[in-house]
Amino acid sequence: MTARASHPASVRVAVKTAVERTELKSFPWPGIGPGEGVLRVEACGVGGAEPEVYRGEKWVPISMGHQVVGTIEAMDPLARTLWKVEIGERVALQEYLPCKACSWCLRGEYRFCPEADFMGAGKPRRFGLMDFTEPPHLVGGFAEYMHLPWNTVIHKIPQDLPPALATLAIPIGNGVQWATLDVNAGPGKTVLIIGPGQQGLGAVMAAKEAGADKVILAGHTRDQVRLDLSLKLGADHAIDTLKQDLVDAVRTIADGVDVVVDTTGDPGAENLKRYLELANQGAWLWVNCIDSGVPVRDIKKKYLTVRSGRGRTHQAVERALQIIRSRKYPLELMCTHTFGLEDVDLAIRATAGKGVEGAVHVIVDPWKR
Ligand SMILES: [Zn+2]
Repeated sequence: MTARASHPASVRVAVKTAVERTELKSFPWPGIGPGEGVLRVEACGVGGAEPEVYRGEKWVPISMGHQVVGTIEAMDPLARTLWKVEIGERVALQEYLPCKACSWCLRGEYRFCPEADFMGAGKPRRFGLMDFTEPPHLVGGFAEYMHLPWNTVIHKIPQDLPPALATLAIPIGNGVQWATLDVNAGPGKTVLIIGPGQQGLGAVMAAKEAGADKVILAGHTRDQVRLDLSLKLGADHAIDTLKQDLVDAVRTIADGVDVVVDTTGDPGAENLKRYLELANQGAWLWVNCIDSGVPVRDIKKKYLTVRSGRGRTHQAVERALQIIRSRKYPLELMCTHTFGLEDVDLAIRATAGKGVEGAVHVIVDPWKR
């Protein structure tokens, strides 16, 4: 095993012990088996879906936090071969702990690996959703250190990239995946993005970077800070759909749209109808959930392509890191709040718009006192 000179005897972690409650606990320095390592966590972003996990009765007891950025602190020699990193190198993690042998994994689609997928049959093997009560305990990002299993999915990041910005690799990666790789937001297209959260803002940047002609972001009045911010992150227009009807507002900008990306939990039947009305012939739609019924007749009439999904590919995160590293966008304006481990509950609530005003991307810094 290779490691930095010394390590602490115990590690502080904020873990979820009950519905809507996290507690600060200490666990011993983890053992490192073949192909394993330890990460010193520099920062962990709070994901847009994290408040839902925090509320969920199904997710107890777990160690939350999956937008992790840190430094390789210790490593078994086999891990160096598997990950191609050195002690002291900085990395951003993906949450998936995939089998790396199934047909999804062999295509780099770790998000759909039955072992890592939250829509799979068993308990998903992924950082931020696993039980902390058994060794190695350190399975979530709201911690000083994390244990890295052999199948950790790693992205190298430069030494000078601020950790807060690097935690955006996952939400911007989702934007890249959903808007560009999934539904072809690209040159000449008019793109409508619904929901100005981290992922919606990520989709705005991704669409603009892919060459979209017009990028329109829609949200509610409570999202005003985010809607204003989107104009600095590549959106050409930001619409408050509580003040203006979506269809009327979009029609003042363009005749129709070529791509719709709905990053909200569920558009609902009425909104889905609006998207179909706005869709140009041959448009592509990305929706999170269409339990409200699939209007196949309308899809057929305009020859639309409708897709859904979850998470993102390795390629999408690499592209997101390129966008972050380019420093082309004022991403520091997205990183509105930083909390220590004592305040993880507040960090999660802030992400849900509670307790703190104007939060966009919230970061937990485990070393903040
Ligand atoms: Zn697999």
